[in-house]
Amino acid sequence: MAKRGKGSKSGKVVRLEKIEPWAAPSGETDFQAKLLAILSSTVDILGGNAGIVALWNEKERHFIEETSYGLNSRGVERLRPLLKEAIPDLATSKQSFDRLSQLSPGLRVPATPTDQVQDPIIALPLQIAGKMIGLIYVFRPHLAEPFSSSDQRVLSAFADQVAISLQNAHLASQLAQERYKVESILESSADGIITIDMERRILSFNASMERLTGWKREEAVRSYCFEVLRLRDSQGADLCQTRCPIAKGTKGFSSLDGIITTKDGQNVDVGMNYSIVRSPSGSLLTTVVNIRDITRLRQIESLRSALLATVSHELQTPISIIKAYASILARSDAQWSQQTIRDKLQAIEEESDRLSELVSKLLYTSRLEVGDLSLNKLLLDLPKEAHKVSKRFVGLTEIHKVEADFPPEFPPVLADPEKIGEVLTNLVENATKFSPQGGTITIKGETSGNEISVTVVDEGIGIALRDQERIFERFYRVKDSLARPTQGTGLGLYICKTIIEAHGGRIGVESELGKGSHFTFTLPMGEQE
Ligand code: ADP
Repeated sequence: MAKRGKGSKSGKVVRLEKIEPWAAPSGETDFQAKLLAILSSTVDILGGNAGIVALWNEKERHFIEETSYGLNSRGVERLRPLLKEAIPDLATSKQSFDRLSQLSPGLRVPATPTDQVQDPIIALPLQIAGKMIGLIYVFRPHLAEPFSSSDQRVLSAFADQVAISLQNAHLASQLAQERYKVESILESSADGIITIDMERRILSFNASMERLTGWKREEAVRSYCFEVLRLRDSQGADLCQTRCPIAKGTKGFSSLDGIITTKDGQNVDVGMNYSIVRSPSGSLLTTVVNIRDITRLRQIESLRSALLATVSHELQTPISIIKAYASILARSDAQWSQQTIRDKLQAIEEESDRLSELVSKLLYTSRLEVGDLSLNKLLLDLPKEAHKVSKRFVGLTEIHKVEADFPPEFPPVLADPEKIGEVLTNLVENATKFSPQGGTITIKGETSGNEISVTVVDEGIGIALRDQERIFERFYRVKDSLARPTQGTGLGLYICKTIIEAHGGRIGVESELGKGSHFTFTLPMGEQE
């Protein structure tokens, strides 16, 4: 794009050092500024009053103005045909011209702000190794002295310097642009990317790294990577000290998985890919590390193994029992009493029920996963529902007493009775399962503000604090407790949580080991009619 400069037009000779043709500018703006400085100085040296620099465009096959000085946009516009048609001949010649009319007879350039007509013109070829890369045109005012041959000699030496400077500036500008492009790509990458020097100090740290680690770029750059990342394995062993591919002298690509600790103390599972560049002599030049948060992947992996463990254990047990009892009953060499046959058939029936419950819970869960939970909301009388559930347990357990305790005038809530019934049943069933010594199980209702809450209280084994956070996850069952020997899938509480949250409520637990548990869910009253 053509630009107008404001340089001196006094005609005084400008010292060449002022132009600093060897200094490479750092970017496009610098390049343009440098070019304008060169042009204005050239115009001054020649005692001209306007000028233009046009660079040869290989693709377009003509000169295109890069910057102008002392010309208004109309003047530049008028010169364009000249750049496209007449002047391209110059790309193959080394001539310069005294008068514009020699290039294009009759062409006049009303160019300056005062619309003055320029006439004497000199075109200085800008060449590198004999190759024309551009032209500098300088105009003198109308009727001024034509350019002399000595002017041309001095200026052609000067033009060579300018050409080199331009070439350098252009290359530097291209380089800066390429660097900017690469940096932008790295910066906007969704993966964390850092570069590390031979001493394992961080050279660059992109935005995703800031998000992933909580470290600010200014803090991380120049720090040692092991101070920032602190990569460990799941047992806490320091992988930066023992497995770092940079320290081990690895060449090429290598990868390492582990856990990093963010600035605020969170642990994040990460996969790190190292690309290590070494010189032919083996010394390290630089390392690019790509870091990806694989927490989700790890969760999916652990879910998959939990699912496999559950399915294999929970399906296998009833199948084995059914198979064993069926084989016993099918033996032709044995006579079974009516009582034995009844007992075995009853056991087969119970195990089949268990299997069917497990399969339906698994199916239910997979439906929930894809968000397929439709609620059939009605005005629900929760005390009535709670009494119904408690009565259901009367015949099922002899060592537990299940009670419902609701204040009078308990407000109805808009909820799906079947689903809330499932939640209550699940919580009471767990309370009986995990209270092996028996005891009282109470379904307690309360209202508070704009919501109701229901708590299932038991006097059972309780749950350790670390497990309380996790028991609502799919397939999570407390280790080293009664949970293992008891039947279960680890899906009940996950299903309860999904149902309650779909109603706009919350579910949680308060518990102490050995003292029992309180499972509470809330439901909003806001939607009542
Ligand atoms: P399941 O009962 O099929 O194992 P749940 O999702 O219902 O699955 O419960 C997950 C785990 O939470 C149980 O395995 C058990 O360890 C723990 N838990 C649930 N309810 C209680 C309770 N009332 N008392 C003690 N632990 C409980």
